[in-house]
Amino acid sequence: MTSTLVTPPVPAGRTADARGAAVPRRRTRVLALPEARWAAVALVLFLVALPLRLTGAPAWTWGPLYALTYAAGGWEPGLAGLRALKEKTLDVDLLMVVAALGAAAIGQATDGALLIVIFATSGALEALATARTADSVRGLLDLAPATATRIAGDGTEAAVAVAELRVGDTVLVRPGERIAADGRVVDGASDADQATITGEPLPVAKEPGDEVFAGTLNGTGALRVRVGRVAADSVIARIVRMVEEASETKAPTQLFIEKVEQRYSLGMVAATLAVFLVPLAFGATPAGSLLRAMTFMIVASPCAVVLATMPPLLSAIATAGRHGVLVKSAVVMERLGEVDAVALDKTGTLTEGTPRVTDVRPLPGSGLDEAALLALAAAAEHPSEHPLARAVVEAARDRDLALPAAGGFASTPGAGVRATVGGRAVVIGAPARLLAGAEDADSVRASVLGAELENGGRTAVLVMADGEPLGLLGIADRLRPDATPTVASLTALTGTAPLLLTGDNPRAAALLAAEAGIADVRAGLLPEHKVQAVRDLQASGRRVMVVGDGVNDAPALAAAHTGVAMGRAGSDLALETADAVVVRDELATVPAVIALSRRARGLVVQNLVIAGAFIAALVAWDLAGTLPLPLGVAGHEGSTVVVGLNGLRLLREAAWKRAAG
Ligand code: ADP
Ligand code: MG
Repeated sequence: MTSTLVTPPVPAGRTADARGAAVPRRRTRVLALPEARWAAVALVLFLVALPLRLTGAPAWTWGPLYALTYAAGGWEPGLAGLRALKEKTLDVDLLMVVAALGAAAIGQATDGALLIVIFATSGALEALATARTADSVRGLLDLAPATATRIAGDGTEAAVAVAELRVGDTVLVRPGERIAADGRVVDGASDADQATITGEPLPVAKEPGDEVFAGTLNGTGALRVRVGRVAADSVIARIVRMVEEASETKAPTQLFIEKVEQRYSLGMVAATLAVFLVPLAFGATPAGSLLRAMTFMIVASPCAVVLATMPPLLSAIATAGRHGVLVKSAVVMERLGEVDAVALDKTGTLTEGTPRVTDVRPLPGSGLDEAALLALAAAAEHPSEHPLARAVVEAARDRDLALPAAGGFASTPGAGVRATVGGRAVVIGAPARLLAGAEDADSVRASVLGAELENGGRTAVLVMADGEPLGLLGIADRLRPDATPTVASLTALTGTAPLLLTGDNPRAAALLAAEAGIADVRAGLLPEHKVQAVRDLQASGRRVMVVGDGVNDAPALAAAHTGVAMGRAGSDLALETADAVVVRDELATVPAVIALSRRARGLVVQNLVIAGAFIAALVAWDLAGTLPLPLGVAGHEGSTVVVGLNGLRLLREAAWKRAAG
């Protein structure tokens, strides 16, 4: 029984969603799975043969049908088992096929066939869980169109492959079309259904300057969009890549079970031989001993144990994926539930990450006016991916400022940027860091101004050129609307209030934290300090989840027990480093996915208990008394199916609703 994320052939169905917009939904139908088709064939054959057998029809009527039942349900696991055997691993599936054939050999063809049918069915169930998981993650992507209408400089239109679009190209998006590339609207007005990426249920108005995403659906207006990212870098493509990488790794519990399974299977074969040979030596009949041994082999097989772990975890991954949380592997799904402390980043995580410049304050001695200061800062910030940098560039654009040319850009995550503008070495960053130790009049004036802005809840950013402070920018960001309830749920779930780790100034951080309900605030942190904070917590026995978005959060995401990145605002580095991605930036899904993981872990335990109890009871019955073979088969396979179905419970919508509280 394999449990990797397979990529089955998916029939692309189109269904209309509640608003009537066509959203391609991809959902594997049961019979699209070869495992399910073979199981169905085996079942039908069995159902035809069984009445013939029971009504005492001649053997030539039901015999061949049974043979076909065995072949249909058993060839695939049998073949896989033989292949495994060649690599010197003993696979439980093979044992089941052998047991069925053994049953047939001693005249119990019906029991063997029943075994094969139920066995094939449980295999199909697992395949379904796996396929649904892959579907629902892919369903997020809602693939972007393959071609776009590019408008050349002279205004002519041409259809080109999306892969050929370059940053800076202009594309035309007609009403009702899917947008082909991430970019900004340069002309036109419309609305876009972005539910696939942002989860926003209502169409969002789009005007010149607004950002649009590949794969989202244009409304009733026509738009001209300047391409901001090539296809390979679009938000959708990044998610696709992660899904592709999405773990072939198995959960630790599963790995442990598989390790034990090997020894167990060998032991079981030895025990089966003993169950056959020992009574024989004491004068029992060969047929009776063989029947008992066959029954033993069937009921002692750990099929249900093997099926206990992956379906719940895969189902949980699928359900989380449908709700915009991409959990990269079963390992992560298992670990998420262990988290008992959460550290949140501020900018872009707790806040919306779309800060606005609210104050522009040139220093008197700088000789610059507001516009010149802003233009200089924007020129230096232009290449940066940081939300603060975007705010500065945006502000300059809003004022239609021409940006001077800049070169030699470098950024220090969590500290700021430097660049050469008009021959001057411009440095931009936190005043506390840049002014540390400076006591000249300009620096003191800049410090005072910075403190003033920060007391007002702003992030103050100092602009310096050739070592001289030129002025400050005040930048404000809003708390995400779901930040406060999320903090409350995380507190309830983990038993401790989350803490805030930020590179921003303590004053602005404290104001914002208070609004969100966080008491423990660590501000002014460089990326390595964030790591240290996480390590300290872990050293005190905590399992820490870090939620962040920036390049400056990546080391902490890596150091954490589990790292969660904000998908929309998130830097590529954060997305790659994190174990899970909140694709639509809905903070409230973080506690939900922790709760879901706990449910999945609970189901794994429940499954193992069910499986273990059945094996113990049936084995004891077979050894101590006489367990009829049909009862053994029904009990064993019944428990396998129950365990398989139990795991699939987490696929249901209700499972998420419950987790989301
Ligand atoms: P957070 O941890 O809250 O996400 P960061 O660590 O990214 O914040 O940034 C911390 C501080 O470093 C900011 O408050 C700002 O003062 C400074 N900084 C970082 N990047 C930039 C930038 N591109 N421009 C100006 N200042 C920056
Ligand atoms: Mg951040």
